[in-house]
Amino acid sequence: MNKAFLTVDLEEWYHLDYLDTDTCRDTGVRVLPQIFDFLDMLDDEGVKATFFCVGEIAEENADILREIVRRGHAIGCHGWDHTLLTDKSVEQFVEETRKARAAIEEAAGTKVVGYRASCFTMERDKLDALEALGFRYDSSKIRFAQHPLYRNLDLTGFDNVEDLVYVREGFSEYEIPTLDIMKYSIPISGGGYLRLFPFWLLRLLLGKYAKRHENFTIYVHPFELTPTKLPLPKDLGVGTKFRCLVGRRGNLKKLRQVIRWLKRRGARLITLEQDRKERGLA
Ligand SMILES: [Zn+2]
Repeated sequence: MNKAFLTVDLEEWYHLDYLDTDTCRDTGVRVLPQIFDFLDMLDDEGVKATFFCVGEIAEENADILREIVRRGHAIGCHGWDHTLLTDKSVEQFVEETRKARAAIEEAAGTKVVGYRASCFTMERDKLDALEALGFRYDSSKIRFAQHPLYRNLDLTGFDNVEDLVYVREGFSEYEIPTLDIMKYSIPISGGGYLRLFPFWLLRLLLGKYAKRHENFTIYVHPFELTPTKLPLPKDLGVGTKFRCLVGRRGNLKKLRQVIRWLKRRGARLITLEQDRKERGLA
């Protein structure tokens, strides 16, 4: 493994698909203002990351977006309000994506050419529309062996130029890695699994993964990297509450351990835009 991409879905805690966004937003509690410890950790480790920002929060976090750019990271788009692409028409998707991109570019003061769909719900007609809008890369493909037909983004016409990297006429798709164990695909690269698994287990799984793959993509969310106390609704089920809160404390430290492990294995942690540059695509 010679390369790793650390990606962040820059969204608020109330964008989680199992929470009622409006009610949770009204509590006034925000996690993004506490993201600076994470940014400092990236500086300490000499790591550059790719941040996919939800359009509707760009303006209120303009100072954070500018700081992210100032520190040399890349900014992409993570939709307008984190609703699923599968519920939208292509026209609606195009309209929302335009609005989101404009808001993020204005707030961050940089051009946006990358995209990640909320909950990885990208579909082929929307991917084509994204390219027509001027975007140059997307990172929404994920494969679950237990759902062979569900959400497996069709990339007919793309060249599989490297493990998990697909290119067609200069537009690239970066797949999120999963590790097949028995008949299940485990997305070891982020979200709940990263928080749930202790580092020794992650190291074991990553070691298994590294034997077969050239690159690795990690994905994390601000609520997983900040200590902000979340005012979760009282009627939230025990399972959901667990899913949301497990491993938040100490996750930043664990992520640093993963980064150091990757570096020891010879992986450079670079932005997706840097990877495109190195391939002569940008
Ligand atoms: Zn997201």
